[in-house]
Amino acid sequence: MSAVGSSDAITIHPGADATTIVVSGSIDERSQLLLPDAFTVGKRVVIDTTAVTRINSLGVASWIRYMGKLSGFGVPVSIAPLSVAFVTQASMISNFLGKASVETFLAPYFCAKCDQAIEQLFAIDAQVPEEMACPKCTAPMEFDDELESYLQFRK
Ligand SMILES: [Zn+2]
Repeated sequence: MSAVGSSDAITIHPGADATTIVVSGSIDERSQLLLPDAFTVGKRVVIDTTAVTRINSLGVASWIRYMGKLSGFGVPVSIAPLSVAFVTQASMISNFLGKASVETFLAPYFCAKCDQAIEQLFAIDAQVPEEMACPKCTAPMEFDDELESYLQFRK
């Protein structure tokens, strides 16, 4: 995929079927949330937020405006995956994702044996266990947050 546009926070990859928007880093009042060109937006938009590390309150306000502008293109917008930082916001702020649908999301686990935080990818309707085998050492690793409030965004 070649990027046709990028800012510090956004890289846009047009594709035959979907335009992929990759969001990364820390989202705050200085982040330039670049929109795709209306002529290249394609049949749908997929937003990849894997590399978003954090977002502050002013970042949240810009993000909500950005999602509103994206829905103005009139094509389906989905998110795959929703990063841990974004899940946390989406679970607290009901309009954080606008009209976008979430396909997959990341969930935080901690493996005591590896002494490492590990993010696991789940489909939106998947069962999310309190405990699962660590992909690196197979020891049981634990969900690293309060499960029910973390999953609030699915409701
Ligand atoms: Zn481990």
